[in-house]
Amino acid sequence: MQIAEKQVVSIHYTLKDSEGNILDSSNGQEPLPFLCGANNIVPGLENALLGKSVGDKLDVVVQPEEGYGEVRADLVQKVDRANFQGIDDIQVGMQFMAEAPWGQQPVTVTKVEDDGVTLDGNHPLAGQVLAFSVEVTEIRAATEDEMQHGHVHTEGCDHQH
Ligand code: ZN
Repeated sequence: MQIAEKQVVSIHYTLKDSEGNILDSSNGQEPLPFLCGANNIVPGLENALLGKSVGDKLDVVVQPEEGYGEVRADLVQKVDRANFQGIDDIQVGMQFMAEAPWGQQPVTVTKVEDDGVTLDGNHPLAGQVLAFSVEVTEIRAATEDEMQHGHVHTEGCDHQH
């Protein structure tokens, strides 16, 4: 079986930045399952995996446009402290869900000043070149439920449908 859309693919992976720092890894955990063709993983990695088989290992370098996108200045904005009523101690690094025109958007506090708080809605890995080392551990056909929901149903997963 070769990787194609409408399949559930499990991979072991290590993700490094361009300087070789490990950002994320499945090492010591279960392999990561994803539904191919459903935007579950970044396009650059998914495209590189198409046609691969169980046991294949590959190193993939993903540019920002095929990864988490470029850093967008329009996703960074300074807002009034009045938006944070009930939160006394706003600190750099805190994350909130913000209402954006396209829906809920996770934002990170990047600056706290007397006259306002700077929020960044970019993905933390936006603008980064990503280096993945991947091993394919399992490939199976997706179920109809999985196709409808656009994600993998793992054993014991109990999300509401
Ligand atoms: Zn589901």
